[in-house]
Amino acid sequence: MASPHRRDFALIVIGSGISGLFVALEARHLGPVLVLTKGSIDDCNTRWAQGGIAAAVGPLDSPGQHLADTISAGAGLVNEHAARVLCYEAPARIHDLVTYGVAFDSLDGEVALGREAAHSRSRVLHAGGDRTGAEIETALSAAAMDPSITILDYTLATRLVVTNGRVTGVEAVALESGATETYEAPTVVLATGGAGQLYSHTTNPDVATGDGIALAFDAGAEIADIEFYQFHPTALRVPGVPTFLISEAVRGEGATLRNARGEAFMARYHPLGDLAPRDIVARAIVAEMRPAEAESVALDCTGLKSVDLAARFPAIFAYCSSAGIDMRTDPIPVSPAAHYLMGGVRTDIHGRTTLPGLYACGEVACTGVHGANRLASNSLMETVVFGKRVVEHIESGERGSAAARPDATPATGPAGAAPTHHELQRVMWDGAGIERNAEGMERALATIASWPAPDAAPTRPAFERRQMTVMASLMLRAAMARTESRGAHYRSDYPATDDAHWKKQQVFVRAE
Ligand SMILES: Cc1cc2nc3c(=O)[nH]c(=O)nc-3n(C[C@H](O)[C@H](O)[C@H](O)COP(=O)(O)OP(=O)(O)OC[C@H]3O[C@@H](n4cnc5c(N)ncnc54)[C@H](O)[C@@H]3O)c2cc1C
Repeated sequence: MASPHRRDFALIVIGSGISGLFVALEARHLGPVLVLTKGSIDDCNTRWAQGGIAAAVGPLDSPGQHLADTISAGAGLVNEHAARVLCYEAPARIHDLVTYGVAFDSLDGEVALGREAAHSRSRVLHAGGDRTGAEIETALSAAAMDPSITILDYTLATRLVVTNGRVTGVEAVALESGATETYEAPTVVLATGGAGQLYSHTTNPDVATGDGIALAFDAGAEIADIEFYQFHPTALRVPGVPTFLISEAVRGEGATLRNARGEAFMARYHPLGDLAPRDIVARAIVAEMRPAEAESVALDCTGLKSVDLAARFPAIFAYCSSAGIDMRTDPIPVSPAAHYLMGGVRTDIHGRTTLPGLYACGEVACTGVHGANRLASNSLMETVVFGKRVVEHIESGERGSAAARPDATPATGPAGAAPTHHELQRVMWDGAGIERNAEGMERALATIASWPAPDAAPTRPAFERRQMTVMASLMLRAAMARTESRGAHYRSDYPATDDAHWKKQQVFVRAE
């Protein structure tokens, strides 16, 4: 496609997952919208979401109950104001998604609602069985084929342009030609997703390298809750087979985790058993694998005779089959994998970052709704609830940014960049994984500091390594500073939660 005129846009959105496409669609009436995305339009975390999207739409449910569950999962750090917005606006955003063509599954004429860990009600809407994310991405991509929206795929955003303290555009590289271009607009929305690629084992696709957080940090925006990274307890672990998520919804249907002795162990760790919060399940699995020196535990679906597993979980069923596992008769080998970043670019309830002109929404943002631990299926909902608010706020014409935090800690980026993707992943898996301690994190930071200066070439691999190194360095520093365990952040040297000192958010900002 010929390069569009670089100044023609009312809004630039970086990213084409659910957040980016939803914002672009909602903002069409404001003027021409430019979407930059570094891969194909559907190369994103969204496409892989399985379990579904949470909203209190069932007759036995209420937004208040959804809010209570969200606050409880977040281990004392949920921003209650933002979480209230999330839970009370969720049903209306489901309606918006349906309007854009998302066909949620139904049962006997009613919307089908799944149950996931730490939800006290069945409130997870799904589409195409376990292909919820793919169904959403397909519907929004089709809707975004609109004359008001220009989508530049294979275009890597490499820098936020800041003029007199305000974000005024984006520098980007067209990956096929190598040409660098600067696009200008009064408003830029970061919708760049998460950072699972920081770890050796992850459910996230290759694009999830935390670019947006590092872009925002470099531009001077505040970054919050970055030490809280959620590891999904159950990813398929078969040697030689790429990691694949086995959704919590499988346990929601009654599947059981078993150790090497065949024992169902979760009741020993939490009253909710197999549906305990994710961090507890992930650590329990690690604890059960350790004595047996096992690489995995077993997820046993063989007792689910009343569930048609192939129909309810078509993607999981097909993937397991391709790995030689019939989930009706064989236990599925699973172990934890990096999955979701609770922290990110700090925003207020309108998606405003602390930099004027820059909004963030979706996994790249930290609205505070997840606190120290995300409640399953709240993340897809967060993208659309706050995506809508971003557009409403832009439309209101009110300028300015979210209030800066006076207690933000000044931080510098790393001096160097990781020599290889795999080495960085290993350093993070070992140093800032499911269990952390000071010794491991200091070693990881020292390794990162010893790496050579970044490659100046604006290739995607070199750029991503640089962004991941910024992320790794921030995450390690935040995790080292938090001398307690809370939610997804577990320190073996500080196993207790310390409310007296740490019932608070950590915020970082680039040192001047
Ligand atoms: C396997 C899996 C299962 C999940 N299941 C669920 C679930 O059941 N329910 C739920 O609520 N959540 C689930 N999640 C989480 C949820 O899918 C994500 O949090 C959500 O999709 C994030 O959407 P997003 O639009 O913010 O980011 P993404 O969908 O990841 O999109 C990010 C976009 O930004 C682009 N991008 C990144 N950097 C740049 C750059 N420098 N320049 C240009 N473009 C860039 C990417 O290419 C991509 O298009 C799951 C996640 C995974 C990985």
